[in-house]
Amino acid sequence: MKLFFHGGGCGDSCCLRVQDLSVTIGSERILHNVNMHVHCGELVALIGPNGAGKSTFLKAVLGQRDYDGVIAFSSPGQRERRPRIGYVPQSPAFDPGDPVCVADLFACCMSKRPAFLGLSKAMRTKVLECLERVHGEDLIDKRVGTLSGGELQRVLLALALEPLPNILILDEPLSGVDAEGTGALMEMLDEIRKTYDLSILMTTHDFSILDKYADQVVLIDRTVLSQGSPQDVLDSEAFRRVFHRGGGKS
Ligand code: ADP
Ligand code: MG
Repeated sequence: MKLFFHGGGCGDSCCLRVQDLSVTIGSERILHNVNMHVHCGELVALIGPNGAGKSTFLKAVLGQRDYDGVIAFSSPGQRERRPRIGYVPQSPAFDPGDPVCVADLFACCMSKRPAFLGLSKAMRTKVLECLERVHGEDLIDKRVGTLSGGELQRVLLALALEPLPNILILDEPLSGVDAEGTGALMEMLDEIRKTYDLSILMTTHDFSILDKYADQVVLIDRTVLSQGSPQDVLDSEAFRRVFHRGGGKS
């Protein structure tokens, strides 16, 4: 495994460079020869059928999976060498009967104070500031298990944005979110990447959002089959072969 951090390369605008990446779990080769550049400020959508290796790829980037090949980060203009990565995992499940509210969830992640002591005034202010980034201040006292799919994604997004990352990685943020919520969430991601100047790498099965929101689409099925602009990938022979059709929602 080679992990590089450097200040430049790729015209100083490349945030993440992946070269000849392969991942083997047990005796199964899950990914091979994956190459990809994510430029700073770009939204890159990773698409592919179930079992294609999308989540495995994200975990390799996060350093949670062993791999061969190169994953290199750069953060132009920053002294800090290691990029901060914010991560929203795929479909975390919360029990509707669970008494944990949004404020408790933040307190668990951000404070050393035991949750049963309640939230300090300073921490509550901090949590509200975090929720403000996703226009979710009104969610602070809601039980996590009762949030809609879109609300839960906004809360998880707020958590992933503290501290502000250089790269935000989201694994299927649109699954479990209805059509209205999908538009709202994509608008929010678009706003966040522009406001905080960060790159977003997300997996999705919703191809209807690609044209409007993705700068680059990468189609993988164990390796990269097609990459480029949304239209190039949706029109590609590989896309038709994998999904048996033209663009739309899978
Ligand atoms: P996707 O996210 O594209 O649906 P995944 O990355 O979850 O695909 O999985 C890709 C392949 O890797 C699947 O065949 C899956 O069974 C396998 N896989 C993923 N994680 C593990 C693991 N921890 N152990 C064994 N096989 C795994
Ligand atoms: Mg997955």
